[in-house]
Amino acid sequence: MDNGYFQMYEYQVPAWAQHLNHIPSHIVKLTTLNTPIHRWSLPGVPEGFQVFIKRDDLTGTELSGNKVRILQILFAEALKQGARHVVTGGGPQSGHCRAVALTCRQLGLTPHVVVDGVSKKEELGAKGNTLLYRMAGSDLYLSPSCSYGAFKQRVCSMAGYISAKYQEPCYCIPVGGATASGMFAFISLFQELIDQGLYENFDDIVVTIATGGTAAGIAVGNYLTGSKLRIHAVSIAMTKEKLTPFVDRMLSDIGLSVGTDDIMDIVEGYIGEGYGTASDELLETITNVSASTGILLDPYYTGKGAQGLLEELKKNPTRFQGKRILFIHTGGIFGLFNGEMDRVVNLPGNHANNINEWPERDIPLVQ
Ligand SMILES: *Cc1c(COP(=O)(O)O)cnc(C)c1O
Repeated sequence: MDNGYFQMYEYQVPAWAQHLNHIPSHIVKLTTLNTPIHRWSLPGVPEGFQVFIKRDDLTGTELSGNKVRILQILFAEALKQGARHVVTGGGPQSGHCRAVALTCRQLGLTPHVVVDGVSKKEELGAKGNTLLYRMAGSDLYLSPSCSYGAFKQRVCSMAGYISAKYQEPCYCIPVGGATASGMFAFISLFQELIDQGLYENFDDIVVTIATGGTAAGIAVGNYLTGSKLRIHAVSIAMTKEKLTPFVDRMLSDIGLSVGTDDIMDIVEGYIGEGYGTASDELLETITNVSASTGILLDPYYTGKGAQGLLEELKKNPTRFQGKRILFIHTGGIFGLFNGEMDRVVNLPGNHANNINEWPERDIPLVQ
């Protein structure tokens, strides 16, 4: 009758990961898997390299991208604990908050979103991801600017406040969804890649890295199954120095004694002005890619990831183990709808600006 959406299943851990810690017991089905892999004629790829794309932006529509894979695990935990409310937090344009808020409503839970760095109602707006978590009818809590660490604490402190206020249990999903059990979402993604012919067809994987769970899960999969590929993670939020301790911690949490550097290559130099910002040049690249391949990248994650892939192929080709590169498209599409693209789409020569006014005459009309 249905395809099992919103149902709870026992989590099937891949055989090679059975000895790890924090294996989730259940998942709630929120995605359409497996996501496809296809050839990607990315403009500017040097002669000899072949680039392919894993369309993890197609895990769904309103719930899409890499975060939904984690939410399948975290919402199973929330439901098993009997939660009626879920709280999470992020920047005003957080795709994670959008996905959590809409998932809550689909599962009959009440969403609560703590918004980082906004103090006045008028500053919030209703564009892109903000529009969508607002449309989920979330209770919003504006949190004036503070450090990242302080914000993370504020978010989960709200769970107590909310359960006291409603006299019902509230589950906290930490900022970005990065938890040890959440990493199994990407350990499973690696098994999906194996099932799709990873070893036979590819030499290198390139993925965008922010807080690290996605790339770490993939790198752990590669490591535990014999390190046949090289994993490159293009950092878009933190320097390698800041990021490495986070990832090291995740690895030791699941019971591995390897370090980040042993299992993945963190690619630096593509943060630009900072996390959540995009240069005009990047926005132009994103338009070039959509106009030549029909693939939509976003300005904050995958656009920078693809820029890193292209630049490194040109400047550091030996960084790659082979010639067949698989880029993981992690989603982020609603980042295109916050008004940022307005800066380039009307520039002369931009591919999004091929607009012709209707000529007065000279178009022979067909009968
Ligand atoms: C969160 C996110 C990432 C990074 O994932 P991490 O697990 O935090 O490293 C990459 N791409 C998109 C679109 C994301 O939303």
